[in-house]
Amino acid sequence: MTLQLAGPSSNPLPLDYSGSFRFVERHAAEHGCGRFFELALDPMCLGTHRGECLRVNPAWERTFGFSEAELQRMNFIEMVHPDDRSAAIAELEKRVAGLSTLGFECRFRCKDGSYKWCLASAHSDGPAGLVYVVGKDITSRRKAEADLKSAKEAAEAANRAKSEFLANMSHELRTPMNGIIGLTEVTLETELTDEQREYLEGVKTSADALLGILNDILDFSRIEARKLNFDAAEFDTRKTIESAVHALAIRAQQRNLELTSYLEPDVPAALIGDAGRLRQILINLLGNGVKFTEHGSVTLGVERLSQERGEAELHFSVADTGIGIPLDKQRSIFQSFNQVDSSLTRRFGGTGLGLAIASQLVHMMGGRIWVESEEGHGSIFHFTVRLQVAEPREQEHPHIEVESPEPPRAAVPADKHHLRLLVAEDNPVNQMLVARLIEKQGHTCRIAENGQQALKLLETEQFDCVLMDVQMPIMNGIEATAAIRAAEAGCAKDNGRAVHIPIVAMTADAMVGDRERCLAAGMDGYVAKPVKIKELFSAVERACGIAA
Ligand code: ADP
Repeated sequence: MTLQLAGPSSNPLPLDYSGSFRFVERHAAEHGCGRFFELALDPMCLGTHRGECLRVNPAWERTFGFSEAELQRMNFIEMVHPDDRSAAIAELEKRVAGLSTLGFECRFRCKDGSYKWCLASAHSDGPAGLVYVVGKDITSRRKAEADLKSAKEAAEAANRAKSEFLANMSHELRTPMNGIIGLTEVTLETELTDEQREYLEGVKTSADALLGILNDILDFSRIEARKLNFDAAEFDTRKTIESAVHALAIRAQQRNLELTSYLEPDVPAALIGDAGRLRQILINLLGNGVKFTEHGSVTLGVERLSQERGEAELHFSVADTGIGIPLDKQRSIFQSFNQVDSSLTRRFGGTGLGLAIASQLVHMMGGRIWVESEEGHGSIFHFTVRLQVAEPREQEHPHIEVESPEPPRAAVPADKHHLRLLVAEDNPVNQMLVARLIEKQGHTCRIAENGQQALKLLETEQFDCVLMDVQMPIMNGIEATAAIRAAEAGCAKDNGRAVHIPIVAMTADAMVGDRERCLAAGMDGYVAKPVKIKELFSAVERACGIAA
């Protein structure tokens, strides 16, 4: 049903309202409501289904500036902001259908031409009855909401910019770190005097510590930018926990601390989740335990709290006999950059990021983290996580020819003892480093300074594998990989021979999704810089199908 609106421009209002007024007065008298109408602090109006305004209370006049007489010459819809009119007409139509309006928000024009936001409720006694409207001026609330929204958007934009800046910075910092750590390792393998070895080991320890801080900043910016993804792969519970304890064993031994761990027997042997992230939490808590304890022990305990529908809730505790944490700091240490002692004279190094990262990781694994501690009497850090329990492995069946076709292999079967590699890398120090690492493994390589040069070399020479940097001038690693794969597809179409050169990404782009981006572009493996010799060659051997 379409509402026929009356008003001065279209359908002039009837001049004689006496019938309606008499009705209003009788009605008010009957209900004794007239006084309330006069006294109400919020605007009230009596009108018709055609949008005619019959009576308004003093609050309406005060709020919008129009007198009752002026409003009687206008139509209700004329007062509504043009952008809110269609919604207001729909609300008026509800009246005709005998429905009420509850909490409708729209802008009403004031006499000075400005608009005020009004929250309105309306009701009528049916198509022939009057329309009762009660409003509330919510202009300041709407303004506060709009201000809050734009402040929130500005803060989010600033936060995004900060996270991107942090991610870019850590990328820029990791690239030279690759050169420093890699070349130090290579030099440490050469003949050195004791003094030179001692200095270089100092360089290596400092570079590793710096890399640890960079990784924390990178993780922190990933979490802030909500770009942290979790792997969901099966892992061995005991091995993962033991590897975290082993990582701290030497440091604990150097400090004469006892480092022990125990797992309750009902902890599932295999779980599905991100073992790397679980290990990261444990290393942080165990590392803090070792750092903040002078005498005594650090003990890791693991128990199963519950298990239902294939999901286990595990409880980890890391107890130390160290300096403890005062009660008033026990909450704030889980916030970023918070440390109990942040003075210039503090004894312990650190960024104050470790627990903030651990606490985010725990939350992402459906758990919580807390601490029990008394100053001078040690601390117990607790956390819980929820992880899928891996099905017990079925007996291996003989392979039926995992049914799944073999992926295409390199054109020339790779010889584990001698590989010929193509390295696409623009940074001269990293070119030198990778070349040395390759030669030391008994392999040979050619260097291309960008993706375009790599394509040219591939056209004329035979290689077993390509090590591909991602960020390069002229043609980046992703574009080069796409071009290589397209050329291979063309070749397979022409002569029916599937050719596939293994490509391993070697990149400082350690943001989430980078690995996926490289694999989606057609690469076969991925190693993050700073490149570790073992990781690099096991990725190369895996990609070449010659993994040990
Ligand atoms: P960092 O160790 O790099 O300073 P964390 O976020 O890991 O950063 O820890 C924050 C702070 O919490 C530490 O600086 C320290 O003051 C306190 N803290 C953490 N673990 C312990 C612990 N086991 N014993 C005493 N204090 C601790």
